[in-house]
Amino acid sequence: MIYPLSRPASLFFTVMFFSNPLATIKKDHSFLRENHMQKLPLQSLDSVLQQVLQLSQSLPVISVHLTDALHCVLAQSIQSSIDVPAFTNSAMDGYAIASTQLDTVTDKATFTIIGRSLAGHPYEGATPAANRVIQIMTGAALPPFFDTVIPFRLVQKEENHIIVPQQVVPHFANVRKQGEEIQKGSIVLSAGTRITAYHIGLLASLGIDTVQVYTKPRIAIFSTGDELQELGKPLQKGQIYNVNGYALSAYFQSKGYRVKNLGILPDHPDRINRALISTPADIFITSGGVGQGTRDYLSQYIAQQYHFQHVHIAMRPGKPLVFGRFTCQKQSKYFFGLPGNPIAAMLSAQTFIRPLLTQLRQENTVSPYFSAQCTCAFPHKKGRTELIRGTVFRKDHQQFFTPYPHQGSAMFTSMTHTNAIALVPATHERIQRGDWVSARLL
Ligand code: AMP
Ligand code: MG
Repeated sequence: MIYPLSRPASLFFTVMFFSNPLATIKKDHSFLRENHMQKLPLQSLDSVLQQVLQLSQSLPVISVHLTDALHCVLAQSIQSSIDVPAFTNSAMDGYAIASTQLDTVTDKATFTIIGRSLAGHPYEGATPAANRVIQIMTGAALPPFFDTVIPFRLVQKEENHIIVPQQVVPHFANVRKQGEEIQKGSIVLSAGTRITAYHIGLLASLGIDTVQVYTKPRIAIFSTGDELQELGKPLQKGQIYNVNGYALSAYFQSKGYRVKNLGILPDHPDRINRALISTPADIFITSGGVGQGTRDYLSQYIAQQYHFQHVHIAMRPGKPLVFGRFTCQKQSKYFFGLPGNPIAAMLSAQTFIRPLLTQLRQENTVSPYFSAQCTCAFPHKKGRTELIRGTVFRKDHQQFFTPYPHQGSAMFTSMTHTNAIALVPATHERIQRGDWVSARLL
């Protein structure tokens, strides 16, 4: 399903660049009261997730230097233009020997040292005769005649020769053969790979300095609510601190996105509107104001103005959500209005925004879920998917899950004193001790 920019909204953007942008939206707040009365049907988590994912349009592809590629997603598969290792070399400091000569050793044998191969300084001498070895260091090229390395500690050195005991090492020991890990021309990474420090290491080992990646989405986070106070200021009567701005920013930063925490917006549609238009970002996330209260401007006004979806989801924590796409200065932007309660906001972000971000860059994913057995019964309301925070642990080669006793949607200890989330499907009646649940790490 595509959610095109509504006519009034596109008109709004056209107008805003030539006249007072707020003139068009100040006039009409009349529908607030009637919408306030509407009861939205509960939709399943999966169905809402599908609607969110259908908004996704692929992001532009750019070239970045490896230095800037961390957390980017490859838009190309990577083919190696070299063998890795590029040449056969020693995995140890020792003596290079021909394995056929090792077979001739009965009890002990003496071999003459005829030269050295150092890392970056290969042995340049002539092909040696029998009973000859060279001293070789880790990473140094193994000359053609040799195929095995005996570590220093296994031989006795006397002046310019060594005494080698029988069966000192197997044939081809301590040698890294050319192309044994990666062969020239082979595909080593597929498009959709999210680049970690390990991928950077691999790409560097192939000599690749630039890669084609999807642009990293820029995320702007606003918190709405007249009751919110910024950190560092004393709380006045009826105020609470802005938790969501910080928690959501940190969450998306920890996943490698470009995030700006843009502070608190008052519960006023004009201010919210202005923020959407003037902030350079690809994904807008707000929290609060998506319920059906008279001051819930995001669901009551912004959602209608932009033709965003306002849904009620059969999930707990989290129920109301506003989401959609709009175009501003010819660029597609995504909007998510999350519930205000901090855990509801965080879990809604993880459940709906993270998968969209993944899809925008066509990222390869694997399911993070695994099975764990519940160590105790816990209440569950049939008809809603519940995201139960708890602790997963291993005992006797099996995974167990213990729910945290305080599951309130504003209780952050449920995420700091735990390590996992169990997903209890809406169809379940109750969870008994010993039942299996799907869990993922936090
Ligand atoms: P709302 O969705 O606006 O009705 O808010 C639901 C609850 O979440 C209310 O108790 C709000 O005070 C609280 N809340 C909203 N925004 C935040 C925030 N940024 N940080 C902490 N709590 C919030
Ligand atoms: Mg509010």
